[in-house]
Amino acid sequence: MTRRPMVAGNWKMHGSRAANAALIDGVLAGLGAGVAAAATGLTAEVVVCPPFVYLADAAQRLAGSAVELGAQDVCAEPGQGAFTGEVAGPMLRDIGCSHVIVGHSERRALYGESDELVARKTLAALASGLTPIVCVGELLEERDAGRTHEVVGRQLDAVIAALRASALGLAGLAQCVIAYEPVWAIGTGRTASPAQAQDVHAYIRGRIVEGDATIGGWIRLLYGGSVKAGNARELFGMPDVDGGLIGGASLKAEEFVAIVAAAQ
Ligand code: PEP
Repeated sequence: MTRRPMVAGNWKMHGSRAANAALIDGVLAGLGAGVAAAATGLTAEVVVCPPFVYLADAAQRLAGSAVELGAQDVCAEPGQGAFTGEVAGPMLRDIGCSHVIVGHSERRALYGESDELVARKTLAALASGLTPIVCVGELLEERDAGRTHEVVGRQLDAVIAALRASALGLAGLAQCVIAYEPVWAIGTGRTASPAQAQDVHAYIRGRIVEGDATIGGWIRLLYGGSVKAGNARELFGMPDVDGGLIGGASLKAEEFVAIVAAAQ
């Protein structure tokens, strides 16, 4: 089973018009990706996720290139309406996004996003034709208590249950990417070992296989948590790790390009 590797950069709340332009130009130059995907040697799918306000700028700068655009969040309501401060999936599509991160641990921890809300956001993304990058991951105390599989399984099950209850059914999962991001490894410089990442990825894949072997076999599972050029190759070398969701290191063009190279 060959799964196309993916590397997505989560810029979080960083950047400015000038800094983003320089970063995008650096990434495109480094990847030789300033032309359409078919014309590059890129085998990995590459996505960058700037803050909302810069998405339209980034879409213009990426136009015609092999690098895709993602948002960092989406409203759980699929249409328009009285939801002050929110951004709907169709709006993201409208300005050129193809992907969206949902359920990042910072949104779960700092903005109280529940498993159910993350599941609703996943459905809203799918309804808009966006590829949701659904983040799951355990806290350090949960890992230390031996509860990693239970926590990740619960987060995943919420999405699976919502899909099953929707018109999409479990088949909707085939349009998703799952990112395993142990919370203790995000922005801490502390990376899961390749064996730790593989263990959880295998668990996630196995759980999906229980529902549908085909989807489980080809759904892409990204690892996120202090991935750098120096550790990407061994993490991505694990059989169930199909690429990465990259925070800090995605803000440096050279570093991000090297991580993509490791995924190729
Ligand atoms: C992230 O924010 O998704 C992430 C993985 O961050 P970092 O790479 O900085 O740990």
